[in-house]
Amino acid sequence: MFNNLSDRLRDSFKRLRSKGVLSEADVDATVGEIRRALIDADVALPVVRDFTKAVREKAYGAARSQALNPGQQVVRVVHEQLVEVLGGESRELVFAQRGPTVFMLAGLQGAGKTTLAGKLGKWLRESGKTVLLVASDLQRPNAVNQLQVVGQRAGVEVWAPEPGNGVGDPVQVARSGLAHALENGIDVVIVDTAGRLGVDEEMMQQARDIRDAVNPHEIMFVLDAMIGQDAVQTATAFRDGVGFTGVVMSKLDGDARGGASLSVRGVTGAPILFASTGEGLDDFERFHADRMAGRILDMGDILTLIEEAERKFDQDEAERMAAKAASGDLTLTDFLSQLQQMRKLGSMKKILGMLPGMGEMREQLENFDEREVNRVEAIVRSMTPAERDDIGILNGSRRARIAAGSGTTVTEVNQLVKRFEAARKMMKHMGKGGMPDLSGGIPQ
Ligand code: GDP
Repeated sequence: MFNNLSDRLRDSFKRLRSKGVLSEADVDATVGEIRRALIDADVALPVVRDFTKAVREKAYGAARSQALNPGQQVVRVVHEQLVEVLGGESRELVFAQRGPTVFMLAGLQGAGKTTLAGKLGKWLRESGKTVLLVASDLQRPNAVNQLQVVGQRAGVEVWAPEPGNGVGDPVQVARSGLAHALENGIDVVIVDTAGRLGVDEEMMQQARDIRDAVNPHEIMFVLDAMIGQDAVQTATAFRDGVGFTGVVMSKLDGDARGGASLSVRGVTGAPILFASTGEGLDDFERFHADRMAGRILDMGDILTLIEEAERKFDQDEAERMAAKAASGDLTLTDFLSQLQQMRKLGSMKKILGMLPGMGEMREQLENFDEREVNRVEAIVRSMTPAERDDIGILNGSRRARIAAGSGTTVTEVNQLVKRFEAARKMMKHMGKGGMPDLSGGIPQ
């Protein structure tokens, strides 16, 4: 996500780091680099213009005040400005006071609407709401079936046209779905609509008809981050043709250059509500401008990581672990259970990518082999409970047995034991208020 942009911005800040004070010429040179980086990331030109103008003015201010640490000053200014273009404060979703809340999804074919319906459905269900997904995409032959599959995976009900009952009329399906929700006291209705490969009037008319039939509380425009420069034009067409209350950026996990996310608020005035980051139903998150700006500037996104952990982890277990880690009593049994909890957050690559400063280690991160984690797990699983609880008893013959049992080598077993001991020491140190020494980088 935003890798290229992050790298370019980091390079332009690096040059400032060696400077004692900031001159206006330094500011101009850096702003020029930022401008080119934004253009190369496919950010819309008017947005680039406003962005660089604001950064230049604020950074001139910092230069005049002869502030120390020019590099940091500029990073701070760019961060502020990124938060601003990404939409500032995030806003809450609008829910109905009484009766079903209606969310309508609009966007081009392939943007990720159906997938999003499932993600939203699961997310809302987990927050205690009842959900109905309505299949008003009757354009694509397989769309109804796809929504049914997604609904099943999300554990929510799907409303699809019965044969002979409004088949081919997406407006009727939306209307009857809403009536069904009303009758059955369902909290949220998510209406999936048809998209086309390009913007066309018939699609817009159909979306307008559905909108007028169900009066959505939110119309979410789903925008594929990968479409680059076309994003602005597509978003404008939907804004004028159907109108929307918020944007969902999808496919932010790909090597999208990120320009669409940076342009869409400025161009349409609508906030980004969610970021979709994969095909799995859990691969999405609420969009927060400040956190996204932090990720772009490689400051990491610890807050989102913590939120996800809170959502998916067993809290009592987490607290018990934290206490054990602080006292240096962690065992491999605990480690195994932590590993399983971590896996609920997604791949190691994703988790590590949300830590600050990981941009510099991107290559290592890209080469990170998820199978490594499986090997580690296999080693721990091949140990007896007694061994897991006290690695001190792991003599040569036990290690050989574990290596054979896990399909690994004694060297790998030795490495794991050594790293575990080091990590345990580090956590004990942190538990006493110390800071971790991460200079070793990602463990290989
Ligand atoms: P729709 O035509 O707008 O309903 O789009 P779909 O939901 O069918 O999505 C089109 C394709 O994009 C499918 O193969 C999805 O699995 C994939 N997709 C959707 N959202 C994401 C995402 O955030 N990341 C990635 N990598 N793929 C996605």
